[in-house]
Amino acid sequence: MLDQIATVADDLTEPHMHSESITGWDRNRHRKTRRWTTVQPGLLAQLHQSVIPVWSTPDDFGASSVPASRPPLAVEALSRHDEIAMAVLRWCTSMGLETRVSVESNVRALVGATPKLDEETAAALLDEMRQWRRWCLVLTGWEQLYCPAGVPCPIVGCGMRNSLRINLTNATALCRACGSTWTKDAEDDAGAIGVLADYIKQRTDRTAA
Ligand SMILES: [Zn+2]
Repeated sequence: MLDQIATVADDLTEPHMHSESITGWDRNRHRKTRRWTTVQPGLLAQLHQSVIPVWSTPDDFGASSVPASRPPLAVEALSRHDEIAMAVLRWCTSMGLETRVSVESNVRALVGATPKLDEETAAALLDEMRQWRRWCLVLTGWEQLYCPAGVPCPIVGCGMRNSLRINLTNATALCRACGSTWTKDAEDDAGAIGVLADYIKQRTDRTAA
């Protein structure tokens, strides 16, 4: 379990190498495939980067520039990042750890202290850290984010409309209201992305009919 906690913490905080193949044409019009390797920041840093406001160009030199209005999804990413940072602080406080400024340092501090935890508490921490990772995954690295209009969240006790966010790039989803997540490798059916996709299809078909 300690290993699992460390692995999730690494995903959240550590930069990692990401490589993908890009196919293009060289100047002699030969098809070429190149491996492109980049260093990606940890998921929390990626989440935070997606909330950096876009600055509008100042009208004239010397005028103070004002941030352009943030797209609504950036605001969601920011509030999700805040929520994770607060939860990490709560964990640090409850474990009697000195807290630091960056959420990444606090996550590392948590990992360092996990050997002192009893099994039940360690399991609870692992659960929560996995939830943070799923939140990050939905709100980062997407090319298309699908927000099914008017469809209520299927979670009993939530049911909020317009709150589902589906990352079509990595097949993960999140309800911004209750924080529930859906993934490809969910342990239970309720958290499976396929089940959510079927549910949304039913709801939208019914509306269209
Ligand atoms: Zn919900």
